[in-house]
Amino acid sequence: MEVFGNYIDGKIDKEGEETTLLSPIDGSEFGKLYLADEEKTREAIDSAETAFRKWSRSTLKQRQEILSKLLGLVEEKADRYAWLESANTGRTIRQSTFMDVTIAIEHIRYFATTKEFVESREIEHPEYPGTKGIVQYRPMGVVGGVAPWNVPLLMAVWKIMPALLTGNTVVLKPSHYTPATAFELAKDLSSAGLPPGVLNVVTGEGSVVGTTLSKSEKIRALSFTGSTSTGKRVSREAGGTLKKMLMELGGKSPNIVLNDADVDKTAKGVLFGIFLHAGQLCESGSRLLVQEDMKDKLLNRIKFYMERMKSGNPLNMETDIGAITTMEQRNKIEALYNKGLDEGAKVYFSHALSSSVPEKGFYFPPTVLSEVSNAMEIAQEEIFGPVLTVTDFSSDEDAAEIANNSKYGLAAGVWSANTKRATNLADLIDSGTVWINDYHMISAAAPRGGFKESGIGRELGLDGIMEYTQTRHLFFGSDENALGEIARGIVVADQD
Ligand code: NAD
Repeated sequence: MEVFGNYIDGKIDKEGEETTLLSPIDGSEFGKLYLADEEKTREAIDSAETAFRKWSRSTLKQRQEILSKLLGLVEEKADRYAWLESANTGRTIRQSTFMDVTIAIEHIRYFATTKEFVESREIEHPEYPGTKGIVQYRPMGVVGGVAPWNVPLLMAVWKIMPALLTGNTVVLKPSHYTPATAFELAKDLSSAGLPPGVLNVVTGEGSVVGTTLSKSEKIRALSFTGSTSTGKRVSREAGGTLKKMLMELGGKSPNIVLNDADVDKTAKGVLFGIFLHAGQLCESGSRLLVQEDMKDKLLNRIKFYMERMKSGNPLNMETDIGAITTMEQRNKIEALYNKGLDEGAKVYFSHALSSSVPEKGFYFPPTVLSEVSNAMEIAQEEIFGPVLTVTDFSSDEDAAEIANNSKYGLAAGVWSANTKRATNLADLIDSGTVWINDYHMISAAAPRGGFKESGIGRELGLDGIMEYTQTRHLFFGSDENALGEIARGIVVADQD
């Protein structure tokens, strides 16, 4: 059994309340976890504050050298990371291997090697000839990170790497349901040469560890990923401290299929959009919006592929359908699904789970619900599970209107053979990402985040890196600066 202790000041701390981590795959005991309390969280914050003095003076090159060493370690241990991620979250081992770990490696590589981020740039001041300016991008200080349970490894990479790259120190709180790979990453960063205290990983209840981070005056920026309702609570709790807040929140993303799309490719894309990690992704394409005259063709093809999907143990490379990470989440999916049926939705197709699915695991059959109107709760609220709703539309403008009729604005997909038509539609959609003829392709170089109640701020890319900096302006005066001379004369009269 795996045992996880909090990582504070470079040491693994195995003290505190013990809890058991259940495997979503078969309900067995996957690991033992020591929960942090308020005091341990404060210790982690203090350690990060002390470490900041030296780390903030390290060079960008030194920091990228450590991230490069980490890259080598994660590449060597890719199988261990994939197993930990699947065993803890119930996602298929195929997904962990070919998406989560592969992308994590590529994203670590980006932060370890990017030349996009520069620590300063020179400017001219048009009003003051002869003077020079330097704009510096300085770290914020101690950065807090709060992560949800659904994408633990990538979340840890996205919250830790840009903050360290820019010279901040970090206290990360992974979800206490899925902390395994974040702790593994902390150990590997230590082996890569990261000084003690620069990264601390503490986990426990959000109302204990998370609140301590958001209320701490010592934390200068908080990067929160989770549901919109928790995000609002965190904003309120952190509000009095005037820290910078980055919010990556919920979504109810439309996947829009126009009548000229390639049916086969689009059906695969729609299934990938919703059933990757059994629909437990913030940007899951959970609302299929399909043009009326395309609907039957597309749904037939979707059914064709769903009939062939393999359910079974997620640790088996052949399995297509993963588990639901917690029993609570499984029950929430079922409750919303039942509500949808009460509201008038119809089951178009449901993939019955095979007998090879482990008996005591947490699973929900992948399901397509048709005759869903956008006003129904299942079209407005995150189901966060393998349930796709289908709504049809008549024109492209109609599609945009339905897509935007949501409090969320995280991501969207548009499928069409006509790039111009797809781009025009994408321009009308209020969301932070629009994939055209693709889905779930997250690039380290591209900022991701939400419009409306899906978030504030961006993660990844240069925009995401800059979020962890604050600017300082250095002004170098000059004798050539006639306006400066006049300005000083306003207060100090010439004595000649
Ligand atoms: P959640 O909001 O319940 O919890 C998120 C994190 O916040 C957890 O670590 C939790 O312990 C912590 N938390 C809870 N109360 C807190 C408090 N008062 N103060 C500080 N922290 C607190 O979300 P979840 O169920 O873990 O994750 C699923 C949600 O995350 C979905 O809504 C999903 O859309 C969202 N999500 C968004 C993104 C994105 O990039 N936009 C990515 C992944 C998940």
